[in-house]
Amino acid sequence: MAYLCKPKSKSIHFKEGGMNKGYSKEDHYPGETTQALARRYKEILGLLGEDNEREGLQDTPERVAKAMQFLTQGYGQDPEAILKSAMFREDYKQMVIVKDIEIYSLCEHHMLPFFGKAHVAYIPNGHIVGLSKIPRVVDVFARRLQVQERLTTQIKECIQNVLHPLGVAVVIEAQHLCMSMRGVQKQNSVTTTSDFTGGFLNNPQTRMEFLRLIGSDLK
Ligand SMILES: [Zn+2]
Repeated sequence: MAYLCKPKSKSIHFKEGGMNKGYSKEDHYPGETTQALARRYKEILGLLGEDNEREGLQDTPERVAKAMQFLTQGYGQDPEAILKSAMFREDYKQMVIVKDIEIYSLCEHHMLPFFGKAHVAYIPNGHIVGLSKIPRVVDVFARRLQVQERLTTQIKECIQNVLHPLGVAVVIEAQHLCMSMRGVQKQNSVTTTSDFTGGFLNNPQTRMEFLRLIGSDLK
């Protein structure tokens, strides 16, 4: 391990101001897929006991079909390509943190939302990446059916594999509607997951600094 961590005198510390780009009114979903999904959602409404012919539900199957395509659009996106599109040579070797990145994902067990915040940091090793690309990478993995643990690890691995930094840290804090709306019905429980490489893994001081900067209770 060549990396020697010195106490950090400074770190860049960005607060991500919200990733909610809103729902685009323009439809760019393949018509065939949308119609195929809509047909099945109409059937599902019937199976759930709804009168799927009633006026209020007229366009619901198609809306749901489009919403679900939006919420799973990460399948069609390449997170590594996003990072590679904005990599710059730079000798900066201090911690770069993007914190409070909003995440909205769907648990793969119930297809119910889980949502919260991701905090991502890396220590550059010759390359930095355009800061907006990190929330975009988080989004690509979140817009798929997920478990929070895998989401955390995938973000970490993507950044590690592309940037080859001296360390990556990812912490996600999220609430799962499959826990609060059903199941154990715990309204306010937050699940925290974390994954680290390099300096964040091997050097407690580096990890502690990151956790302090994101305001986490994790040790
Ligand atoms: Zn679930």
